Amino acid sequence: MLTSICGINWGDEGKGRMVDLLSRRYDVVCRYQGGNNAGHTVINERGKFILNLLPSGILRDGVVNVLGNGMVIDIRHLTEEADRLRAQGIRITPENLKISDKAVITMPYHVLMDCLEEERLADKKFGSTRRGIAPVYADKYMKKAFRMGELLHPEHLYERVKDIVEWKNLTVEGGYHHAPITVDEVIEYFKKYGEPLKEYICDVGLWLNEAHKAGKNIMFEAQLGALRDIDFGIYPYTSSSSTIAAYAPIGAGVPNLKLDKSVGIMKAYSTCVGEGPFTAEYFGEKAEALRAAGGEYGAATGRPRRVGPFDVVASRYGIRCQGADEIALTKLDVLSEFEELEICTAYELDGKIIHEFPFSDALDRCKPVFEKVKGWNCDITGCRTFEGLPKEAQDYVRLIEKLCECKITFVSVGAERDQIIER
Ligand code: GDP
Ligand code: MG
Repeated sequence: MLTSICGINWGDEGKGRMVDLLSRRYDVVCRYQGGNNAGHTVINERGKFILNLLPSGILRDGVVNVLGNGMVIDIRHLTEEADRLRAQGIRITPENLKISDKAVITMPYHVLMDCLEEERLADKKFGSTRRGIAPVYADKYMKKAFRMGELLHPEHLYERVKDIVEWKNLTVEGGYHHAPITVDEVIEYFKKYGEPLKEYICDVGLWLNEAHKAGKNIMFEAQLGALRDIDFGIYPYTSSSSTIAAYAPIGAGVPNLKLDKSVGIMKAYSTCVGEGPFTAEYFGEKAEALRAAGGEYGAATGRPRRVGPFDVVASRYGIRCQGADEIALTKLDVLSEFEELEICTAYELDGKIIHEFPFSDALDRCKPVFEKVKGWNCDITGCRTFEGLPKEAQDYVRLIEKLCECKITFVSVGAERDQIIER
């Protein structure tokens, strides 16, 4: 069984939380794209964890976790994240963590370039998480990146450093007038943070194929949502990788295998971190109230998230991009404190009502069409059956299901592992 757990919206839908729950039925959890710009918060009986690079399956004994070739890996961050989790009692060894030899390494100079560029852009900035993600993916496609497998052959790796540093300084020093990076600092960095990871690096594609043949269940964990996908998202306010389910087998290392199921994680309202068009956005008091109710501050950056009501237009598009077979609707409990709710059911573009998500340029001119629905206005965090939910909450879920034309199989009513309703 190959299942993808992917985001329908702009990210932070609660993917980590759902992977943590659903991983009980899986043997392997793979991350297939992105880097440490991800922020997945998971709360279970072992504690509260924030994961940036490690798959959320790392929290469950017996699950093997894979960092796939589609990822960019900041090796210092990975080392620190693993140490932080170990201090919280999580076991991380080459037995339960495998890193693709083809994954690309995010270097300190990528982080530097990310910051230099955001500063140059000033008020036109993209809202980058400044973790070096765009610069390292750019280098990957320029074929000037270092890959994890090279750490297994240091002599060869160190030979390449001189050429890459020379090329990189054309921009760091020549373009941005920043102090140049040096060959020594790059080699030192590999020695300190790369060499200790050697035992974890392997051909994960080979390993995953064997696992699949042996009948193991494999799950793919996305970082970020459909609307941040490099091709299908709100470009250029996207991430630099493919966040969509169809890419999961490729980014994990098994392009020969086909997904059996795509589970879309969708939030009961909308949030968006950083810049870019966000049609259903609330402002002022309305925004404050929803942000406070949902605790909407980024896990990776601490930035306040932009918020709004559920957006049918964007979500339908997200569901299509993800090929979602079913949906887990998260954070329904956050809406409990409102007597009346709104749903963005359409956009108005140049005086016309539209229902399909438009191209980026038009998106800037779209205005939301809100419709009001009745809230339930009582605590639902203790509900464990759909029938146990107040009628208005059931109606809200059914309405979203109807408008989005996709079955909602899970409803999450709290951040903890068991605060879930399975339909
Ligand atoms: P991810 O990036 O998609 O994994 O999502 P994040 O972890 O960045 O953001 C989701 C946040 O909502 C986290 O702080 C979760 O602990 C929390 N969360 C997840 N599901 C629920 C839920 O159903 N109700 C509430 N109140 N919080 C939730
Ligand atoms: Mg997140």
